[in-house]
Amino acid sequence: MEEIYLCKYGELALKGLNKGQFESVLLSNIRKKIAPFGEFRVRSSQSTIYVEPLGETVNKPGLFRELLTVFGISTVCRAAKTEKNIDSIVATVKEYIPPFLEGKRTFRASAKRADKKFPMTSPEIAATVGAAVLEATNGKIGVSMEKPDADITVEVREEYAFVHADAVRGAGGMPVGTSGRALLLLSGGIDSPVAGYMMAKRGAKIEAVHFESFPYTSEKAKEKVLELANIMSSYCGQMRVSCVSVTGIQERLKDTVDESYFTLLLRRSMMRIACAVAKQRYCDALITGESLGQVASQTMQALNVTNAVSDIPVFRPCIGLDKEEIIEIARKTGTFDTSVLPYEDCCSVFAPRHPKTRPVMEKVVEEEEKAQLSELERTALENLRVYFLPEKES
Ligand code: ATP
Ligand code: MG
Repeated sequence: MEEIYLCKYGELALKGLNKGQFESVLLSNIRKKIAPFGEFRVRSSQSTIYVEPLGETVNKPGLFRELLTVFGISTVCRAAKTEKNIDSIVATVKEYIPPFLEGKRTFRASAKRADKKFPMTSPEIAATVGAAVLEATNGKIGVSMEKPDADITVEVREEYAFVHADAVRGAGGMPVGTSGRALLLLSGGIDSPVAGYMMAKRGAKIEAVHFESFPYTSEKAKEKVLELANIMSSYCGQMRVSCVSVTGIQERLKDTVDESYFTLLLRRSMMRIACAVAKQRYCDALITGESLGQVASQTMQALNVTNAVSDIPVFRPCIGLDKEEIIEIARKTGTFDTSVLPYEDCCSVFAPRHPKTRPVMEKVVEEEEKAQLSELERTALENLRVYFLPEKES
């Protein structure tokens, strides 16, 4: 029996968007993702994407797992393909469906008919299929129309009919690449990989910039960040990480400005450099992992002061999340264990004991002028180093 995979996307998500572009990006993302698992035919029809394994060598569990991580797919189900006549449908149901019903007490059968020329109505097909399930399971399972443990569906489509049990929830969101490009400020912490995940889920194509402070921060700290990007690539696609050294900027700030402004001014410098990288890389927005009130540099006043140096939007998808909520996403996406490895981030180098939590813009600018950072920022940008992390299997 031929088993195929039906991937559905929420029709509502397409409102006002270009459906053709959505589909073609999604198809190409799926093809790229499942390529390591064998050969497939992937096509879309009527808001469903059909993934058909070609040949016997396909790694089916791997394929299924992978499909569940592709943004833009709302549900995935394994289905048996059958000829479009009721005898063939019934035979397929009897053979294919019973394993899906193990441990379940009730089921409901339903039918969808895309082909209105099919000689039976949907309720007739459903009734026939329901009877076939009862027969195949020797009455071990009952019918419930209201709250079934399992939904058995027959879809009569253009060329074939498909039989399947419950659909499994997919990653949801929008296909990566349908919502523009954005540059993620990626630290080694818990929050920024989560912020990247959330924006990739909304369809943004992401690349990253990481600031290091060698020799105050170690080679291990950078490796950790590259490993985070590597993990992220399983849902964001290939990741490019630009590493920028801010050692010179930090030393200048330490020598010239009032200590309590150090972190704020470093963050403004990071934002200016990030904006320049974004422009070089055709990114239309920045993304950070900031969360309101989490630390001194993330009060509303401090955020205003750092935001002011960016001339493109700064997206902060974690802004309203508690740390526990952020950690929950980090665990789900697999970055948490790497994020908590104990290597220092550049933000903690020379960090003041009493940072300003309610900075006033005029005073910030006054302090910043003492440091004369523009030349150092230009040099930092010129010496940027790029790392590629190819798309990884999940
Ligand atoms: P995270 O868990 O993401 O490190 P955090 O709570 O430690 O967040 P901060 O260190 O204040 O917060 O950083 C806030 C945001 O600034 C980070 O989420 C990230 O987007 C950016 N950022 C901080 N340090 C760096 C860095 N070294 N390189 C790139 N971006 C950084
Ligand atoms: Mg951090």
